Amino acid sequence: MATTVLSGIGYDVHAFAEGRPLVLGGIEIPHAKGLAGHSDADVLIHAIADALLGTVGEADIGHHFPNTDESIRGIRSTEILTRVVEILAGKEARIVNVDATLIAEAPKIAPHLAKMRASLAACLRLPVTRVSVKATTNEGLGFVGRGEGIAAMAVASVAVIEEMLDPETAPPAPVPGL
Ligand SMILES: [Zn+2]
Repeated sequence: MATTVLSGIGYDVHAFAEGRPLVLGGIEIPHAKGLAGHSDADVLIHAIADALLGTVGEADIGHHFPNTDESIRGIRSTEILTRVVEILAGKEARIVNVDATLIAEAPKIAPHLAKMRASLAACLRLPVTRVSVKATTNEGLGFVGRGEGIAAMAVASVAVIEEMLDPETAPPAPVPGL
């Protein structure tokens, strides 16, 4: 059976807020401020979840986990990611890898990257080597540069058996003779 690799992209931003813990990649990071949001506002996990949902053409996490749903107020984003992994499993999509970048002026992310990768890999049921997290600053520019919030970008790939694909989303049949 032929396997096809599908890729997806995700992007998210959250503003800093007083009196909240800062949670990134499922890890609580010591900082004067956390991020505002309906969930724990884990901007890194939200970008990764959107990338994963995008691989199989699913709607974004705002659709699956709406901020108008009081039953999920304060939900841990590791729980969101676990549910997204289950959505993919239900579609027989096997996650190949995830690559993400955090964009923040502060705090320093590098000391926490190894723990973040391990936390994400556990949720994704992947070896740590298939989960990449990088961090950069915005060189003082824009809302990130002014320290107003944190942004995250992610790409993800999944492998699917072509025969399992919905006919509407399956790639066109090869032209005979080519
Ligand atoms: Zn978010």
